[in-house]
Amino acid sequence: MSFQVFGIAVSRGVAIGRAVLVASSRVDVAHYFVAPDQIEAEIARLLRGRDAVVLELETLKEELPDDAPHELAALLDVHLMLLHDDALTGSASQWIVDRHYNAEWALSAQLEVLARQFDEMEDDYLRERKADLEQVVERVLGALTHEEGGGAAPVTARDFGGEDPLLLVAADISPADMIQFKRSVFRGFITDIGGKTSHTAIVARSMDIPAVVGTREASRLIRQDDWVIIDGDAGTVIVNPSPIVLEEYRFRQRQSELERARLARLRHTPAVTLDGEHVELHANIEMPADAEAAVSAGATGVGLFRSEFLFMNRDGELPSEEEQFIAYKAAVQAMKGMPVTIRTVDIGADKPLDRLSVSELRHEHVLNPAMGLRAIRWSLAEPSMFRQQLRAIYRASAFGKVRLLIPMVAHLSEVRQIIETIRKVQQQLTDAGHAYTRVELGVMIEIPAAAVMLPLLLRHVDFVSIGTNDLIQYTLAIDRADEAVAHLYDPWHPAVLQLISQSIAQARAAGKGVSVCGEMAGDPDFTELLLAMGLRSFSMHPSQIPAVKQRVLRSDAHRLAAALPRVLDSEEPFAAAEKELAAARGGALH
Ligand code: PEP
Ligand code: MG
Repeated sequence: MSFQVFGIAVSRGVAIGRAVLVASSRVDVAHYFVAPDQIEAEIARLLRGRDAVVLELETLKEELPDDAPHELAALLDVHLMLLHDDALTGSASQWIVDRHYNAEWALSAQLEVLARQFDEMEDDYLRERKADLEQVVERVLGALTHEEGGGAAPVTARDFGGEDPLLLVAADISPADMIQFKRSVFRGFITDIGGKTSHTAIVARSMDIPAVVGTREASRLIRQDDWVIIDGDAGTVIVNPSPIVLEEYRFRQRQSELERARLARLRHTPAVTLDGEHVELHANIEMPADAEAAVSAGATGVGLFRSEFLFMNRDGELPSEEEQFIAYKAAVQAMKGMPVTIRTVDIGADKPLDRLSVSELRHEHVLNPAMGLRAIRWSLAEPSMFRQQLRAIYRASAFGKVRLLIPMVAHLSEVRQIIETIRKVQQQLTDAGHAYTRVELGVMIEIPAAAVMLPLLLRHVDFVSIGTNDLIQYTLAIDRADEAVAHLYDPWHPAVLQLISQSIAQARAAGKGVSVCGEMAGDPDFTELLLAMGLRSFSMHPSQIPAVKQRVLRSDAHRLAAALPRVLDSEEPFAAAEKELAAARGGALH
């Protein structure tokens, strides 16, 4: 039966493929394809994992003391029975044969199928056996991880031809897990939880694949292997579409590929407005390897290196100075002399160090994590970690143009402490004989307090970067990761526009650099507005650069600036911008 699920559009484009349902807690299970000649070996690996757990449980049962409660032996029997049931390993093996999934993926896919059957059982006792099934699968997954020699070498679906694209469906995905999906097998994402600028959505956008979040119940309604269309522009998901609908979306998919190819030709065109204003289009990156995509998209620098992603997926162990230095140096060298703005670690709120997703954070009852010990507050609370990161960043400056950016600044005392720490770090590096060059210091404008007192902050820094994602969140008191209030998260709110516009004007008047690195910068619907406000430096996901560049090329910055007061004075800025900025638009097409 065909049906639709509605959510929040977070990453543009159309994706068509089969649903892979993954429980949030198992998103980190390895997902890769095995080559056809490895299928037998992969099934054997699955069965070895199963047998290891069988042996473990049988030994446990034999060693039970005589006075152990008999429920314990009965429970072990249930687990052993599940392990021997063909519905688990037999069907998991079938996933390996049919879809070439690796053993871990096949097992967790089959778990999702069975878990749903358990959920639908009338009998309470049987329904509760789902937890046993999950425990058993968890054990087998553990046994597979610890197996000597690991699994078959991964191959891509294309290597064996004709595979259907796969779309991931989960209740929630943490940013830490999401980052591991970069270069993964999935061609689109659907989650129940999340808002437009939640970090899971941001990583999906950085991967340039269609995504819809905040659907509330997609993971309950969609079944393993269903055919699904993700409409990343409208925020809708169409499940089991009719052939006519499928054809229509395939057509749209081809159209957007053509449009992409057309825009890609702008890669080497400098971003200059019709009236000759030069505009920097920088890239936001999460990992050093992303610098490559930034260069090939035509970025003229990195405006935001979200360094916190280097700190994730490490079981709580922080990256050493050396590891960080190697990562920053790699990004700097890849950018070939263009500036690289490294933001110090922004951990906290919806970006915890570990794999907790937003829904799990909610269960942890962390009070207002967005207002807690995050970003620079955490760095200043962990001075040796902070010094270590600063040393690594300064050492990378010997290899190119590095700029230092501090997130979530709200107090002058924080800026003073940062400057003091930088002095100490410079001394340490000099004493140790490490080379470094001048590094410009910038702060992010993400908290309304920082925007309001910008002239004071500007006395101490070289540049500012406006983080609109958080600035909107804190100005409007809307949790950016909460789908329940997502409709109130409004970049067009007059208060937000005033803060952004004033910040740009004040930084320019003070002769300091100013850029926007929040999601607004990469959304072509805001390009004219930001140009009108005087912005000449935008930072965004590499994939967004061509579309924004096209807008820049078609804009007349002076005419836009002249129209700006009418937008800012309006009670309906969105409608006013449509009218006023469109009227100021230049005529030439590229
Ligand atoms: C922002 O808040 O706009 C920003 C760029 O930082 P992040 O999205 O990483 O919080
Ligand atoms: Mg931020």
